[in-house]
Amino acid sequence: MAIERHPRLRFLGGTETVTGSKYLLDAGGRRVLIDCGLFQGYKQLRERNRAPLPVPASSIDAVVITHAHLDHTGYLPMLVRDGFRGPIYSTEGTAQLCTLLLPDSGHLLEEEARYAQRRGSSIHQPPTALYTAEDAVKSLRSFRPRDFDAPFDAAPGMQATFVPAGHILGAAQVHLDVDGVAVHFTGDLGRADDPLMFPPRGLESVDVLVTESTYGNRSHPDEDPGEALGELVNTVAKRGGVVLIAAFAVGRAETLLLHLSRLRAKGRLPEIPIYLNSPMAIDASRMYQQHRNEHRISDREFAQMYGLATMTRTADDSKLLNLRGGPMIIISASGMLTGGRILHHIAAYGGDPKNAIVLAGYQAGGTRGADLVDGRRMLRIYGEDVSIRADVVAIDGFSAHADADFLLRWMKAAPTAPRMTYITHGEPASSDALRRRIKHELGWNARVPEHLETINLANPR
Ligand SMILES: [Zn+2]
Repeated sequence: MAIERHPRLRFLGGTETVTGSKYLLDAGGRRVLIDCGLFQGYKQLRERNRAPLPVPASSIDAVVITHAHLDHTGYLPMLVRDGFRGPIYSTEGTAQLCTLLLPDSGHLLEEEARYAQRRGSSIHQPPTALYTAEDAVKSLRSFRPRDFDAPFDAAPGMQATFVPAGHILGAAQVHLDVDGVAVHFTGDLGRADDPLMFPPRGLESVDVLVTESTYGNRSHPDEDPGEALGELVNTVAKRGGVVLIAAFAVGRAETLLLHLSRLRAKGRLPEIPIYLNSPMAIDASRMYQQHRNEHRISDREFAQMYGLATMTRTADDSKLLNLRGGPMIIISASGMLTGGRILHHIAAYGGDPKNAIVLAGYQAGGTRGADLVDGRRMLRIYGEDVSIRADVVAIDGFSAHADADFLLRWMKAAPTAPRMTYITHGEPASSDALRRRIKHELGWNARVPEHLETINLANPR
């Protein structure tokens, strides 16, 4: 087969969904995986995590990671457990954040399996965790951090370079030269106006572009999300309620504290207690502080942000918050209500109409967060139905993703059009909307690839 001699790209995840990002580059038998994410959300997607990879883990030479979020890294512990023995390349910031995120993911999966075992509610007999915290810790040994803008050989004939993506700490776009074909992965692309991160680096001339499309059919509102949050907090505080903010522990918690601390400085935030109930978010903040040149926050502002909130580390302190009552603000994870301490708070406070639940980021289909945004008011939490009478407010403006307008502007500024643009990391409607805009507004070749599809990079179509 002639195609075998050409470098190929295969989509093992991140198509038809924002989760499970995994892109396999194969050139003359050398294999490099770009991102190694977990599928999340709909059950039918989550079950893909248990399906064997189409190639043996041991046949992959190296993994290159764009950033630490689990939908880009959460499969790494399985890959290593199942026989992958190569290096995992990432930036220093990503490697640090993974020391928090991956073991935590293992703990949550073990907890879930134990729970399923107790309830006898799993079809897997006996229910086993996808992987354990121990698997996750083992996988951390394979990380080999690389600097931004410093080309390195991911495998012979496959040179990779990390360039800033402006999404979270350490987040990179990956530029590759695969046997002379320039392939560029956006990873998750940040925004021009993010209060925390610098804007993403511009796109250079490439042959093949693989872009994300999380917000491919949406524009971020013009209004300052901090103002919207301030108004909500004032309303809820006046009625003595609790504001529960669901935030991704890495990146989003920092952005929220920054907005809250700026509101406080302007005298626009009532004097009510604020709790940051996420040990991971507390640890991640230290890592942000260590990488001063990657974001916009000064040491002074960091001190103000973290002086504002009481840090809740232990499980006992977390439980006490459920007895405390309002008015107060609790920031906790996970951001899409798929697990974590926020679920206990929702069980405790979600039933009372004087409280409010704030969703501060993208909600992938099939998650409890997406159900709430769609108007469902009954959530299944630890086997119990919890009726939600608290206000539910989604504030899109806190997103750390580029919206469609920015993605188009970012592409348009490239010196030349790629030969082909593949649109990934979006729900189907979102990816297709971005495809149409790329075709009509830029006149570029663009396509939404299918799950497990293989592309010949020498003749991309
Ligand atoms: Zn991300």
